[in-house]
Amino acid sequence: MTKPSRESEYVPSESRPEKMGPLELDHPLIGDLCPACNVPFREGELVTLVVLGPGDDPEERKKAREGEPYHAVALPLHWACATGEE
Ligand SMILES: [Zn+2]
Repeated sequence: MTKPSRESEYVPSESRPEKMGPLELDHPLIGDLCPACNVPFREGELVTLVVLGPGDDPEERKKAREGEPYHAVALPLHWACATGEE
């Protein structure tokens, strides 16, 4: 995987991501790398899903274009990596 970059400036939106966790030891995310900081998820951490977009599904792309709710591709990040909140 390529290293994430900080090249684009991002203005946080009004809508807040949904907080998940703290992660249980048997949660499937444990051991996966957070794509924002490249540190594995660990037991007890708070995470959130950051929506990327409709992905390559033509039906979901169509809904996204038309402003309809759609099933989004999303990435798990540490809560702190997504919001700045420790
Ligand atoms: Zn992280």
